[in-house]
Amino acid sequence: MTAAAHHDYYAGGWLRASGTRLLTALNPYTEQPATLVRESTPEDVDHAVGLARQAFTSWSAMETGMRAEFLQRVASGMRSRAEDLARSISTELGMPIKLCRRIQVELPISTFEQTAALLASYPWSERMGHSLVLREAAGVVAAVSPWNYPLHQIVAKLAPALGAGCTVVLKPSELTPGCALMLAEIFDAAGVPPGVFNLVPGAGAITGEALVSHSGIDVVSFTGSTQVGRHIMTRAAQTIKRVRLELGGKSASVVLRGADLARSVKHAVASCMLNSGQTCSALTRLLVAAEDYDEAIDLARAQLRTLTPGDPLDERTRLGPVISASHRDRIHGYVRRGIDDGAQLLAGGPDSPDLPGHGYFVAPTLLGDVRPDAETAQEEIFGPVLCMLRYRHPDDAADIANHSRYGLAGAVWAGDDREALAFARRLRTGQVDINGAAFNPAAPFGGYKQSGLGRELGRHGLDEFVELKSVQLPQPVN
Ligand code: NAP
Ligand code: MG
Repeated sequence: MTAAAHHDYYAGGWLRASGTRLLTALNPYTEQPATLVRESTPEDVDHAVGLARQAFTSWSAMETGMRAEFLQRVASGMRSRAEDLARSISTELGMPIKLCRRIQVELPISTFEQTAALLASYPWSERMGHSLVLREAAGVVAAVSPWNYPLHQIVAKLAPALGAGCTVVLKPSELTPGCALMLAEIFDAAGVPPGVFNLVPGAGAITGEALVSHSGIDVVSFTGSTQVGRHIMTRAAQTIKRVRLELGGKSASVVLRGADLARSVKHAVASCMLNSGQTCSALTRLLVAAEDYDEAIDLARAQLRTLTPGDPLDERTRLGPVISASHRDRIHGYVRRGIDDGAQLLAGGPDSPDLPGHGYFVAPTLLGDVRPDAETAQEEIFGPVLCMLRYRHPDDAADIANHSRYGLAGAVWAGDDREALAFARRLRTGQVDINGAAFNPAAPFGGYKQSGLGRELGRHGLDEFVELKSVQLPQPVN
């Protein structure tokens, strides 16, 4: 167990929290405490925001090349602690270690590096007629992040915010604070000026609430549930903070006739089951033509059988537990109600045998004949539950896929890429992968509809943390 004995929060250095409440993050496999951290109080938050405001003046005025150098130094620090980071995330979250290394750690390190590299080509100023349009740092950023990709979601805010010249106060999820504590150590060791990056661990209702409501914050960048995102918008409205939100999803894989059925089903199962279904962009609805439906079920079942649940720190494990006992029960509740509502249980389910004797496991579950407006097709279950829906005509498939209050991601499979691209244009989502194409961390990521506001990653991620200033010139100035 990691006990944060020498430090509680990080604001210009490690400090002791003014309160006494200890938060325990559990290991969801052993069900034992993994990390203890003392909660930052609203007074601690106020102190951190004050420091961030002070540091803003010089950090935002610093030459971008120097800021890029600091980002590179942090990236190297992350690289040298990559294994510690992966083990911390695997232990607190339950994602298999092998996947943690690649997805939870390697991806954020390269995001840091790529953001640093981007600063050189970013249009900090451009001419528009007789105006000089400047892009300037938007101010002090409150970053609030969830537990499911804890480091990636922190870095997707931190790297562009710092790169743009903003200073940041971060409140990570209370369920996975370990990687954020390590990141603060890395910033400290990299010699980043005090107050540029600040960390206030704590619960959403206390520490998070104090942070997003603070009058010293200019931008709130939040990743989490749609419900909390909606609440944060109302808090931010008091001082007209800029709000950017990465929220939930209920994304669809659409398999058109003529597509490679085996590949498309395999891809849908893998996407849905990754991180035990706890991925915002997971493809959790699989839409298959009526003619292909039975074959798709057989393929999906065979694929699910390869996902044996086990110890996340075992190199061979492909499926870990879900984050908590209450989350497991919530997932089982969705599945039970789905079955009562007419869905067919085709694999897994709440009463599955053969799960490990401890740990918050949910068996990989397949529900068939799910109606497009059933709760299981509409709500984000956030667990290893794949819903199969059949369609009769591609137009129906587009309607079903778009029949969601979410609009984060999607996938389209067709006999040829052009047909798939034409179908992708019909989807009201921020991302669409066609015929199995890979995730691109340089392309904008974010949601239509209630999946969010704004975009993260790449150039568009930087845009979120700048203000535009038009300076009118009496005559051309060089
Ligand atoms: P959550 O409950 O909304 O929490 C997210 C963060 O907000 C946590 O740090 C939480 O603190 C904090 N928080 C809660 N109430 C708050 C308040 N009143 N004021 C300020 N902060 C508050 O979400 P989660 O359960 O951690 O994560 C799962 C959700 O995130 C899913 O819906 C998923 O789809 C979404 N997600 C979206 C994306 C995306 O990029 N679109 C990526 C990943 C996840 P605690 O530590 O107390 O929980
Ligand atoms: Mg929560």
